[in-house]
Amino acid sequence: MKFTQPRLPYAVDALDPVISPVTIDYHYGKHEKAYIDNLNSLIKDTPFEEMPLEEIICKSEGKIFNNASQAWNHIFYFFQFSPTGLKEPCGKLKDKIEEQFGSVDEFKKKFEEAGATLFGSGWVWLSRDDKGALFITQGGNAENPMTKGLKPILTFDVWEHAYYLDYQNRRAEYLQKLWNIVDWDIIGIRYDD
Ligand code: MN
Repeated sequence: MKFTQPRLPYAVDALDPVISPVTIDYHYGKHEKAYIDNLNSLIKDTPFEEMPLEEIICKSEGKIFNNASQAWNHIFYFFQFSPTGLKEPCGKLKDKIEEQFGSVDEFKKKFEEAGATLFGSGWVWLSRDDKGALFITQGGNAENPMTKGLKPILTFDVWEHAYYLDYQNRRAEYLQKLWNIVDWDIIGIRYDD
């Protein structure tokens, strides 16, 4: 199986000023593309060539895991944003967030803290288990909660390449601004699925 980079579901300047077109050019156009290209060359003529991306992530390690997981994580990250999306959670997801975290604002604060305090490069995740319980986790480098049996529903990339062109060292400000472009309609669908 050869993986292709999906086109963004919005224009390159659609998320500006939260994520600038220059960051999209580098982050989507070069970083995400490189992970997918590297993965395709690494799996060529190996058993991984026949597997879907999720299976590669759960069965590989080293370079193949890093590039497979980073490919999946970036596609997942870019597809959760919209300039005109639903601005707050609703339905079952909203109820669960309020039950576990007290309020949507308290949840956002905890999620931002997890992202801001992750040392080095990685991702902050919101995932659910098979009973619908929510988990905020930090993952170093290419880590993905699916390898621990959780279903990811939201992620913020905290590698410096995700924010340095727009926010320099101000990672906390980048995390806070991302809420303006998260489409909760998409997160709700991921939760319900
Ligand atoms: Mn990234």
